[in-house]
Amino acid sequence: RGIINPEPNEREESLERALRPRLLADYTGQDKVCEQLHIFIEAAKKRQEPLDHVLLFGPPGLGKTTLAHIIANEMGSQMRQTSGPVLEKPGDLAALLTNLQPNDVLFIDEIHRLSPVVEEILYPALEDFQIDIMIGEGPAARSIKIDLQPFTLVGATTRAGMLTNPLRDRFGISARLEFYTTDHLAKIVTRSANLLNCTITSEGAIEIARRSRGTPRIANRLLRRVRDYAEVKNNGVISDTCAAAALSMLEVDPLGLDLMDRKLLETILHKFDGGPVGLDNLAAAIGEESDTIEEVIEPYLIQHGFIQRTPRGRIATIHAWTHFGLTPPRKDTT
Ligand code: ADP
Repeated sequence: RGIINPEPNEREESLERALRPRLLADYTGQDKVCEQLHIFIEAAKKRQEPLDHVLLFGPPGLGKTTLAHIIANEMGSQMRQTSGPVLEKPGDLAALLTNLQPNDVLFIDEIHRLSPVVEEILYPALEDFQIDIMIGEGPAARSIKIDLQPFTLVGATTRAGMLTNPLRDRFGISARLEFYTTDHLAKIVTRSANLLNCTITSEGAIEIARRSRGTPRIANRLLRRVRDYAEVKNNGVISDTCAAAALSMLEVDPLGLDLMDRKLLETILHKFDGGPVGLDNLAAAIGEESDTIEEVIEPYLIQHGFIQRTPRGRIATIHAWTHFGLTPPRKDTT
């Protein structure tokens, strides 16, 4: 999915770490979520208790992992990180849980992908800081309870709809991350540019921000590519013209749409005459799961007025037609 893919790639991991804000005060945007977390964290610290379990959901690259690190930092505790698909057996999770120090943060990414047997272990751990494990086999098998240190689970998911109810109910705090505004992204780009020691004008930052699909991960990635271009062509200074030229050269869509966005829109426009088309038909046509369309691809397109959800299906807006240089058909309204 190329340069505008909101999923991380392995090469950028160390850079992402370097650019990650460490405190709530440095975390740009998501004001409501930050304000709530600030209050809950201060209250928990005053009571010298762990923070309630936190569920973070929203599309990839919006800062869920970053926020988990920040929660641990602000609580003055350590963070352990794992993910749903990595925890294959109940013992994998039990080993992690029994090694936690008091008030540690356990971050489980892609928590909607926990297997049911692993999820079972989690329930009593979240509720009573206890786990039940089976010892031995056959008739001699018995279950023993192990006490855990009090801890905070931070779960992240792109698919809030795929969490089981009992799991969802065990999070005291749940927060949805939203796509970032251009202004917030420009602020993030400027901060990252400073950390990377490169010179950027405020217009240059806005140019990159506009093409980042509302996503900090993409903004930071585009910044690095534009930096290379600026070093070779513009004495290292990232101005708006320099950013625009670099991003056009990389064929980054002027509105930051990625390959899947374009494929989905073009399918509605060309195959279904602009819609309406039902979600399942659309999923089959582009070879993507309906859940992914609904929870990962569509939110940005709807927010930016490219498509609308109607009772009869998805329809492309005039904005979508003109973005692809097409003339919307005149639908007979009589
Ligand atoms: P997610 O876990 O939601 O996929 P990450 O937390 O890994 O996303 O964020 C991706 C990158 O974007 C991080 O390296 C971080 O530098 C940057 N980032 C995310 N959110 C913010 C923010 N609010 N302010 C500044 N940088 C951010």
